[in-house]
Amino acid sequence: MSYDLNGKKVWVAGHRGMVGAALVRRLASENCEVLVAGRDVVDLKDQAGVRAWVAKAKPDAVFVAAAKVGGILANNSYPADFLYDNLMIEANIIEASFREGVEKLCFLGSSCIYPKFAAQPIVESALLTGELEPTNEWYAIAKIAGIKLCQAYRKQHGADFISAMPTNLYGPGDNFDLNSSHVMPALIRKAHEAKLSGDKEIVVWGTGTPLREFLNVDDCADACVHLMKVYSDFEHVNVGSGEDLSILDLTKLVCDVVGFKGEIVHDLTKPDGTPRKLMSADKIRGLGWKPRIDLRTGIAGAYAAFLAGNATMRPAGAHQ
Ligand code: GDP
Repeated sequence: MSYDLNGKKVWVAGHRGMVGAALVRRLASENCEVLVAGRDVVDLKDQAGVRAWVAKAKPDAVFVAAAKVGGILANNSYPADFLYDNLMIEANIIEASFREGVEKLCFLGSSCIYPKFAAQPIVESALLTGELEPTNEWYAIAKIAGIKLCQAYRKQHGADFISAMPTNLYGPGDNFDLNSSHVMPALIRKAHEAKLSGDKEIVVWGTGTPLREFLNVDDCADACVHLMKVYSDFEHVNVGSGEDLSILDLTKLVCDVVGFKGEIVHDLTKPDGTPRKLMSADKIRGLGWKPRIDLRTGIAGAYAAFLAGNATMRPAGAHQ
């Protein structure tokens, strides 16, 4: 069973975000019409507005890449926004897509849906087997609800709605605002600024021991398009590289790529978050997909995009 994108109208909800923009880039090489709607056209938190827009635009397929996103500090500081905004956005898009006869929908979440102490590498079936990491549980609860919505519409209505759960993503279009960003863009920016101003050190949050997995956003978009074509089932699918490294090793790699030669110091007043978050990539590999962009090449590309001014300096609370 495969879904053919040829001649289809494909809505990328959240096209201004890092993942949505990568999906738009990736879909340019498919024979399909890409639909986008900015916040001025439709407020994704507004149920009636989303329903009206979907009824008018009539997409055949939908990628739900719209979300309120942020790093460890933003998640911790704005719990109500992270839970409410994400619940509304996904519920509105999924319900409107079902009502308007969308043939295929791919909902995007994140690896933070898994329990804090899940056995590593984390397999898809670990979902809801333990307590979440408290620093991002608001976002995680919303994303788990999104997976369940897709499953519920499949079960009750036979809708072909699937979910993809990417690991930590980075790349062009990332958020480089130090208060709300994830670790990769933060380190790229910090290393760059330290290099420019001739600083002797770069400050890393926490102990540097947490392990994280990273995937380039263009690889992620490619994986989502692949899943849209080949996958039609209840269970969500992990989208990752299957490899992780410590925050300290990541910092060294970023400093090397950026060309900063100073010392690395730790700010222990900042949280470490979950100790390790490596997802199993077995399922997606079994579906015939693997990443193509290695970490060093990807970081160099992300740094080049940052230098070229592609970086969006979004305030905390931005989405789409
Ligand atoms: P997480 O994967 O949900 O924990 O989110 P982040 O990407 O924000 O953080 C990942 C890890 O990198 C955590 O252990 C952070 O403490 C650590 N880290 C080190 N330096 C920074 C930084 O400058 N910004 C962020 N966001 N995280 C950092």
